[in-house]
Amino acid sequence: MSPASKILISLVFLLAPGLVLAYIFLSHSPIMEHAMEKERAAMVKTQLAGRGIGDQRVLRAMGHVPRHKFVPDYLEYKAYEDGPLSIGHGQTISQPYIVALMTELAQVGPEDTVFEVGTGSGYQAAVLGEIAREVYTVEYIEELGREAKERLAALGYKNVHVRIGDGYQGWPEHAPFNAILVTAGIDHIPQPLIDQLAPGGRMVIPVGADALMQELLVIEKNMDGSVQETKTIPVRFVPFLGPKKAE
Ligand code: SAH
Repeated sequence: MSPASKILISLVFLLAPGLVLAYIFLSHSPIMEHAMEKERAAMVKTQLAGRGIGDQRVLRAMGHVPRHKFVPDYLEYKAYEDGPLSIGHGQTISQPYIVALMTELAQVGPEDTVFEVGTGSGYQAAVLGEIAREVYTVEYIEELGREAKERLAALGYKNVHVRIGDGYQGWPEHAPFNAILVTAGIDHIPQPLIDQLAPGGRMVIPVGADALMQELLVIEKNMDGSVQETKTIPVRFVPFLGPKKAE
């Protein structure tokens, strides 16, 4: 090996740890947090309010939840962009607009108990936790559920409860729910979820026979227990996992 390459290799070995430390330091510094806060405010203004999200509770919640803490480190710089992002295990954190729209369509208020299927990163649950009294959320993939639970606890969301399991069955111990959000695409509405919806409650769920395309439906339960369905917009969610149950 030439002396020049030796020098080069030693330089790389000397510099690399420094660069890693500098990155870790900077990415957690107040300067970086301030930059993220500015990006978040811009996201709320242009992607949400600018596209018709009018519920002040939703806008305030999404202006508050640090979305960049819910994505893998290497994607932090993209956290406030207008799209979904990978969170590993083939799953995604939804586009900010979709999170806002689902929360607005569910008409979540401060007295509500909310159920979510598909915790994923825990971001949607955190947004719900900012608005509602209690949030119960179920994640099918064990590692994602465990990570989300730790993340939500570290960020202080004491009213958000994560469980690992099949959300198809709901969470009967905490039912009825004033709002239910399903964040994975399915070809029918699970009966247990209809059963666990409180009278006057709303469920927002992406339903479609095609695994790549669904319609975002709002299911309202009337006071007499009957339900009515409203179609909103076409959406694309990752598929609902677990044993498929017949209707
Ligand atoms: N709400 C999430 C994004 C959801 S992605 C967020 O804010 O980050 C959809 C999630 O639903 C994935 O994590 C997937 O593992 C989960 N999922 C799919 N089928 C499920 C089921 N039957 N029960 C619970 N979770 C499920």
